[in-house]
Formats: sequence, C-alpha cells, structure tokens
Amino acid sequence: MFDLAQYIHKFTILRRDPAKGWPASTRGKSPYKPLLLLAALDQFDQGQLTHNLIELTADLGNLFELYCATVLLPGMGCNIAMPFFHMQGEGFWQLVPLPGKEANVASGWRLITESQLLNNVAGARLDDELFTLLAVKENRDVLRAALIDAHFVEATQPLLWERVATNQAAFLYSSELLEQARKKLKELRPSLEDDGFAREVRDQGFRRAVVVAYNHRCACCGLRIVTPGGHTAVEAAHIIPWSESRNDQPTNGMALCRLCHWSFDEGLMSVATDYRVILSPQLAAHGNMPGLLSMLDARPIFLPLETTLHPDPANLDWRNKKIFRKVQRFQQFLNSFSFSVNDSPSDIFSVFAVNWMLELCLLMRPRSIARPSQVGFWRDHSSPLHGLSRACQSLGCVIDSIYRE
Ligand SMILES: [Zn+2]
Repeated sequence: MFDLAQYIHKFTILRRDPAKGWPASTRGKSPYKPLLLLAALDQFDQGQLTHNLIELTADLGNLFELYCATVLLPGMGCNIAMPFFHMQGEGFWQLVPLPGKEANVASGWRLITESQLLNNVAGARLDDELFTLLAVKENRDVLRAALIDAHFVEATQPLLWERVATNQAAFLYSSELLEQARKKLKELRPSLEDDGFAREVRDQGFRRAVVVAYNHRCACCGLRIVTPGGHTAVEAAHIIPWSESRNDQPTNGMALCRLCHWSFDEGLMSVATDYRVILSPQLAAHGNMPGLLSMLDARPIFLPLETTLHPDPANLDWRNKKIFRKVQRFQQFLNSFSFSVNDSPSDIFSVFAVNWMLELCLLMRPRSIARPSQVGFWRDHSSPLHGLSRACQSLGCVIDSIYRE
C-alpha cells in the first residue's frame, strides 16, 4: 500500500533557509525547494517524466524560473542547482552519479553550480513509491496543494495556481501548434480568448514550439547557447506579427538570437523566400558598424530538421514587402529611372512611369519608402520635362501625405 500521507507530510516540512532577505510571500524562507518540486510536477503533467530520473534540462530550468519570477522580486537570484543538490536531505530525492563520478557525489562535496551538477550527476531519482504515486494526476494535485499551502502566504497562492494553469495550457498549446504544423492543418482552434491569461499562454506556447523546432538555434546567425538553468540565447519571432495574422504556427515563426531578433523587428534583416538572409542597406548607413551581421548577407538560414516546420515562404514574402527596409534600393531605382527619362523624354512614357511608381509606392509601408524630400528627382525643375516634373512633384505630395510618419 502506497502511503501518500507520508509524502504530503514530507512536502510540507521541507527544510528551507530562513536567512534574512526572503520576501514575506515565501513566509520569510527560501522558496527554491518547493518551486523545484512544482516545476517537476509540471513535467509529470506534461508526460516528460516517464522513467524515474529528473534531469537538469533547459525545460525544467525554464519552468523553475517561471515559478521564481512569480514569487520573487526582480533581481533576486534563481539558481536551480542549489535546491537540486540540497533536496537530497529530504529523504525522497537521491542524486544519480554519472559513470566514474560516484566518488565525487558520495564525498559530500557540495555540487551547487549548474556545471558542477552536470559534470557529476545524471539527475535525481525519487523514491520508487513516490514516483509511482506521482503517475496519478489526483496525487500530483494533492501534493502540489500541500507545497503551495505550506510554503507560501495566502496572497501568493492564487498567483502560483495561475502559474500552474498557464504552464499546463502553454505546454498543450505548443504541442498543438507543432502537431498542426506537422499535419499541415491551417486553422488553429479558436478557443483562446484575447484576455491576459490567453495572451501569456499563447506567448509561452508559441515560444516553446518555435524554440523546440529550431533546437535553440538562431535561424539567421546559427548561434546556440543554452544554460543548464534553462536560459537560451534565442527568442521566438513572428514572421507576420500576431496582431496582423493571428497565426502562432511554427511556420509563421523563427528562433532568433536577441541581436537578430532586434534587426528583424526593425526591418534591417529578413529572410528571402529561398531561405537566405537579406540585409537592408540601412544596416550599414549613417556610420553604423553592423559587425558580424554584415557577414550574414545571402547566407542560408538554419532550418528546423522537420521540413513541415520550415517558415512558410508566403509569410516571408509578406514580411519582405511590408516590413523589410529597402530604402536605398528604392532610391537607386528612382535615380536610374530619372536618368533614363531625361534621355528619352516622352509625355506618354511620363504618364505611364508616374502611374507605375504610384502603384509601386502603394505596395510599400511607411518605413520602407523613401521620403520625397530625399529623392532629388522630384526637385529637378530644370528638366525639359515640365509635365513630368510637375507630375512627380504631385506624386511626391501624394506619397508624403500617405506615408507621413
Ligand atoms: Zn542570431
């Protein structure tokens, strides 16, 4: 007979550091052990712990960090290695040494940094009895409630339950996104309302789906850095912004490091439909020094292994037309156009040309358009083509009024 009551008791009497400085929300003691157990319970819920070994993965670290952010003040430390090591003292959590590292683990040497743990232990093993109990959802709910009630004040408890619900919903959402992309389904289920909870679920779920698809690697520069604590150098970027597309599918996203993400958002970098990096001429303008970014031009991006998760070229095409900054290319085009018109004046051609330019301009967004004052062509009053010159001035006014920032 398994004894759930003894584990409820053990979960409520976790030994926690009472040093000064812990906030009132954690009853004035270190919250790390209960938060680590809450993160591990989430992994059980997500079906990630199918055998009795809790590994120090980025996923576990990320969940732990989300719980820390819920109860701790910004700037307070969040080192998962400390509770992972010290939980041994609770009697139901044993560190499993890596082959050849048994002596280090048995020596009592304190393994309290992520790298010390990763170099010496494969993970933590629970009592077999506890592991069996945790396979049942009702038992997990009871133990989770024991942790939250015993170690956090009443005002904080709803925040933790909300975090539990968000983590579960975000995991389901990310799994569903990946599943839909693999099956090439177009429509998302419409159940996520546009409230704060849904937004957080969507953000967390989309981020997880994209980061998993790209295995934490920046699509544009290839950078991949993941700390054992779950910090990854990449973020999930929408290709067509969610506000425009309502599309969180991985084929509308890419994992990008912070610099590439910023450049992407600013329209300074993008990806062509043949999956090559394209850089805006603005990147190197006005004394900018883009450094390593300038070496990425025309290089193939790093794609997910699964082809069904590759960016949808139609989404990339939309972004390149609407957000990518091509000012200088547009200016070059205008300059060359001006030259050819002066060489072969024709009223018919001028009308055609102005109309065509207007069409072209209407396809472009404000940030990708050259402001009329920057284009000398429109100020060329000495041109023999007075009609065209006037028409172009009019066109400049039209564009100016359409695209005024
Ligand atoms: Zn990058």
